[in-house]
Amino acid sequence: MERMRTMISPGRYVQGKGALHRVGDYLEQLGSSPLFVADDLVWGFVGHDIESSLRKAGLPLVREKFNGIPSALEVDRLVDVIKQTGADVAVAVGGGSTIDAVKAAGFLAGVRWANCPTVASTDAPCSALSVIYTENGEFEEYRFFPRNPDLVLIDSQVVANAPASFLVAGVGDALATWLEARATAQSGSKTMAGGLPTVTGTALAKLSWDVLWENALPAIDAVMDNQVTPAVEKVIEANTLLSGLGFESGGLAAAHAIHNGLTAVGATHGLAHGQKVNIGSLTQLVLEGARTSDIRDFIEFTTQVGLPTTLIEVGLKSDDTESLRTVAAASTVEGETIHSMPFDVTSDDVASALASLDRFSVQVREAAKLPSPVPYTTCH
Ligand SMILES: [Zn+2]
Repeated sequence: MERMRTMISPGRYVQGKGALHRVGDYLEQLGSSPLFVADDLVWGFVGHDIESSLRKAGLPLVREKFNGIPSALEVDRLVDVIKQTGADVAVAVGGGSTIDAVKAAGFLAGVRWANCPTVASTDAPCSALSVIYTENGEFEEYRFFPRNPDLVLIDSQVVANAPASFLVAGVGDALATWLEARATAQSGSKTMAGGLPTVTGTALAKLSWDVLWENALPAIDAVMDNQVTPAVEKVIEANTLLSGLGFESGGLAAAHAIHNGLTAVGATHGLAHGQKVNIGSLTQLVLEGARTSDIRDFIEFTTQVGLPTTLIEVGLKSDDTESLRTVAAASTVEGETIHSMPFDVTSDDVASALASLDRFSVQVREAAKLPSPVPYTTCH
């Protein structure tokens, strides 16, 4: 199986202004008793639209509160809720954490599942895998499922109404997709879809990158005013669908492994997935010995987007050898996707690459008259 070229995808992808007003019509094709999982904040924004759509479709409305972290414990709790309520389709409404928890719970409970992302902050919605974290927010494991979500439905106006920082984080997650798919294609490693990359998966990852370089900056500006423009639609699709298909069937490599490594240090908790992934992407470019001009362009562009390009922006310091060693060790454990790079990467390599980021990045930002990094500190 592992030597077979493999491409997987969700059953249906629906995106547009007001899409949530149609959610009942789509869910009706999947089951007769949906269970919605959303936190209170998200439900406050979209619960009303979902309720009226379900009423029109003649479906009952049951909502369970999501507890915040897609941990093994939370997944098991949701499995119990699905069984107790007799739901036949589990519907995640919210961000990547809610979606990951519901996918894992839906699989274990043996029901179908659908995702309604309310932000375009990660590429979690389309994939057949979940990332499980400890109760403290440290990366624990990837869980793989035999199928993708039956439905991914994303309302562009809801995405545009959310703070722009979510879209920014999504751009960080989606830019990594091409860097990692390119590395996976070069090494001929296995992808998250359980086989070799297809040219399709790799091409979609590249398309995600191109769409973002063209559209991310105007899209972020538009979302700051809660507007849905063609650029916003393209960026939502790049962050959610193209990056989702691209990472899963194109392959992950160093950037996401370094993201996972960063979660091993408490100082980075509270940052969005895509913010940490951007540090992973930059570190991957350094590890690859990419052209200086490519690294400079990446720093300039992602700084303009609003993503971190220095360690101090993710709560670390280049001279904090111990933390960098922890990150480097966690990102190079056996089985991590960093071993999909076309060359061997050791823990020492990662620690050195990380320690080299700040000096160069600060210089590039100064030369380009871009804002200096603001240190990130977690509130305790
Ligand atoms: Zn990601």
